[in-house]
Amino acid sequence: MTRRPFIAGNWKMHKGPVQADALAAELKRLLMDFTGVDLAVAPPYVSIPAVVARLKHSGIAVAGQDLHDQVQGAYTSAISGEMLVEAGCSHVIVGHSERRSLFGDTDEVVAAKLRAALRAGLSPILCVGETLAQRDAGRAHDVVTGQLALALAGLSPDQVLGITIAYEPVWAIGTGRTASPAQAQEMHATIRSWLSDRYPREVPATVRIQYGGSVKPGNARGLLSQPDIDGALVGGASLDATSFRDIVAAAG
Ligand code: PEP
Repeated sequence: MTRRPFIAGNWKMHKGPVQADALAAELKRLLMDFTGVDLAVAPPYVSIPAVVARLKHSGIAVAGQDLHDQVQGAYTSAISGEMLVEAGCSHVIVGHSERRSLFGDTDEVVAAKLRAALRAGLSPILCVGETLAQRDAGRAHDVVTGQLALALAGLSPDQVLGITIAYEPVWAIGTGRTASPAQAQEMHATIRSWLSDRYPREVPATVRIQYGGSVKPGNARGLLSQPDIDGALVGGASLDATSFRDIVAAAG
C-alpha cells in the first residue's frame, strides 16, 4: 500500500493575521501544482480565520496547534476542537513537545485532547518523541511506544486510522540538529511494528508517520525517501514559503 505524503507546517507563535495572510497567499501560489501531497498549516489561533479564507479551494488544510479537551466552559484562554472546526480547521496538532515541556501537557492530558479532537471531527496529528537524555540512556524506543500506548489506549482501530503520528525527537526540534534518515527510519519502523502488533493490518498499512525536527530543504529528500517516513511536521522552515515549497517538492 502506498501512503500519500503529508507535509504540515507548524507556525508556532509566529505570524499575526496580517503576516499570516501574506504567507498563506505565497503558499497558495507556490504549492498549486503539488497535487500528490497532502498539505496543512497550523497558524496561531488569531490568524486562523485569515488563513482559512486565503486558502479556500487551495487544497491546503488548516490546523490548530492545540486544543482543550472540553467543548466549552470556564477555561480562560483555551480553545475547543469544536471551535477550531467552526473556524474552518480540519486538523489539529496534539501533544507537541513544546506543549508537553513548556505547558505541562502530560500523557493523560494528551490522551484527553486526542479524544476531544476525534469527538470534534478533527484529524489529529499526534506528536511523540524522546529527549536527548532518554535517547542517551537507550530508552528512546520505550519512551515513544509508551507515549503511543497512553495516547491511543481504548481507541478503536477506526479511530486510530484517522490519526497521523508525528515522530519528533525533542533534541531535534528547533535545534538545527536532525535525526539521520537511518535513525528516523528505525524509529518509524518501530512505531509501525508497534501498530502491527495491536491493530488489524489496515492500521499500520494506512496510518501516516511524519518525521519532525529541523526538517529543511537540504535534508528533506533523505528523510522522506525512507520507507516508513510518510511526511514531515515542519517548524522553522515552514515560515518561509520557498523553503516549505522545497520540502514539499522533496516529498512529491
Ligand atoms: C516542530 O515544531 O514540530 C518542529 C519540528 O520544529 P522545527 O522544524 O523548527 O525543528
